[in-house]
Amino acid sequence: MINYLYQEKNWQSQLNDLISDPEELLALLKLTTHDLKSEQLLSQHAHQQFKLRVPRQFVAKMQVGNAYDPLFLQVFPHHLEMQDMEKQIQAGFSADPLGELEANTLPGMLHKYKSRILMTITGACAIHCRYCFRRHFPYQENLPKSRDWFAIEHYIRDHPEINEIILSGGDPLTVSNDKLAQWINRFEQLPQIKTLRIHSRVPVVIPQRIDDDLLRILATTRLKVILVVHSNHANELDIDFDVAMRKLCNINVTLFNQSVLLSEINDNFYILKALSYRLFDARVLPYYLHVLDKVQGASHFLITDATAQTIYQALLKELPGYLVPKLVRETSGELHKTPLNVF
Ligand code: SF4
Repeated sequence: MINYLYQEKNWQSQLNDLISDPEELLALLKLTTHDLKSEQLLSQHAHQQFKLRVPRQFVAKMQVGNAYDPLFLQVFPHHLEMQDMEKQIQAGFSADPLGELEANTLPGMLHKYKSRILMTITGACAIHCRYCFRRHFPYQENLPKSRDWFAIEHYIRDHPEINEIILSGGDPLTVSNDKLAQWINRFEQLPQIKTLRIHSRVPVVIPQRIDDDLLRILATTRLKVILVVHSNHANELDIDFDVAMRKLCNINVTLFNQSVLLSEINDNFYILKALSYRLFDARVLPYYLHVLDKVQGASHFLITDATAQTIYQALLKELPGYLVPKLVRETSGELHKTPLNVF
């Protein structure tokens, strides 16, 4: 365990002090080229395409000297990402696996699901997850400016079936509380909007993000607030996460988690069972277990549907229903996530 004085730092300082140099990460974990298999070696190409970005607090949860640490494997840009690109493309891996550019109705707004719109209010994330389906997404061309809100507002009013706004990745909790409050205030002006859903990995990787100002904003909005955190492994969760979730729970924020099923990281019944129980300890319910979206550079994380279904069956047998997430696939053009049948 690496000892950082991150508790003394506020979340903004932590965001400004992310590790972005792969060599620094290897040095902190005392990993040398001898510890890594050839395909695990650093790929500058992968790093340039989607830069390493990881909070020190998250690195502190990695095991020193372990090249197979499940947290390390989620963030380190290595050779497998760029290997056999032709094969990856033939196997259906693409830069936009969910066809989001087509659903991108207005800058910063996607209307994929009937009653919900999804907004990307920032392209920034606190951590770069190598399997991210938006790793190639052109955020810069799609960020909503204040002047774009006028068009978005009109679009929502023209679609009375929309009752929920989802803030999603780039990570919405990387923006300042003032900006977040400004967006929420806009949403509140629309009587048809009842629910605000925030999808974020920040409370897992920098739990101090749940600060007093944010709690005040979320406690005073008229909207029902749902926070969907994103954790793939129980090792990611610590006492700081528990404290943050307790504070959110106390102001009636509904708490869910979504995970991605990833080869070598959590493709194992025992790991997922431990994750479900650990989340529940923190008052968070497992919501979705996604199979991998086929994004270029992430093919080495893929597991077969048959393996996913076998693991899932074991979860169904062992866990109470409220601790079993829904096993789903997101398919481009579909109006909902598709459950994977388990027989
Ligand atoms: S959008 Fe979410 S999954 Fe993608 S890199 Fe950012 S935090 Fe990770």
